Amino acid sequence: MVKRKYKAESKRLMELMVNSIYTNKEIFLRELISNASDAIDKMYYKSLSDENLVFNKDDYYIEISFDKEERTITVRDTGIGMSEEDLDENLGTIAKSGTLEFKNELAKEDKTAEIIGQFGVGFYSSFLVAKKVSVLTKKYGDDKAWLWESEDVEGYSIEEAEKDSHGTEITLYLKDNTEDDNFDDFLNEYRIESLVKNYSNYIRYPIKMLMTKT
Ligand code: ADP
Ligand code: MG
Repeated sequence: MVKRKYKAESKRLMELMVNSIYTNKEIFLRELISNASDAIDKMYYKSLSDENLVFNKDDYYIEISFDKEERTITVRDTGIGMSEEDLDENLGTIAKSGTLEFKNELAKEDKTAEIIGQFGVGFYSSFLVAKKVSVLTKKYGDDKAWLWESEDVEGYSIEEAEKDSHGTEITLYLKDNTEDDNFDDFLNEYRIESLVKNYSNYIRYPIKMLMTKT
């Protein structure tokens, strides 16, 4: 297992996320669903130029599941997945232009809450609700699968793992409840269902919900 450090600016953004008093914590779900959808889009575009790859619609979907005992939410997609390098580049640093803009806005004036709402802050928004995030992923065409894990702003680890087919499975280990925040709300399928409805109008792939083991 390799321990790696976040780039300085990613670390700052995560610190803001973790300590944010921002009330709209549920945006993490919008961000994870949109990433899952992007990953399936990438398979679709690949299929246009790769004759070995047939895009069979039934094989492409996003699945949300819970474990109430472990207090985890998992968002799984059958998209393109990530290699070890992809994980390092995409989840270890701020890749996205929107995130960069976000950082610049933050530097200008300190209105963290408003600003988080304006920008798609992407994957890091997981840390609004999670104390630990794990990403199990296998890239289309690769033999190896990888497990990326992070539980603080210092860094993350990547190790080889097992996964049958391409795609990505992101598990959020919810933060402990506080007086102000009951994170267990996110373990309620009705709550999640209504959030999914709000956030996924524009998503072209099926979103399945796996019912809970209680
Ligand atoms: P953005 O989606 O704007 O690029 P994010 O922070 O949401 O920014 O995601 C960063 C990058 O991580 C994505 O561009 C993508 O390369 C990678 N990524 C995130 N989630 C997934 C996923 N489910 N499948 C494949 N790649 C992903
Ligand atoms: Mg995104």
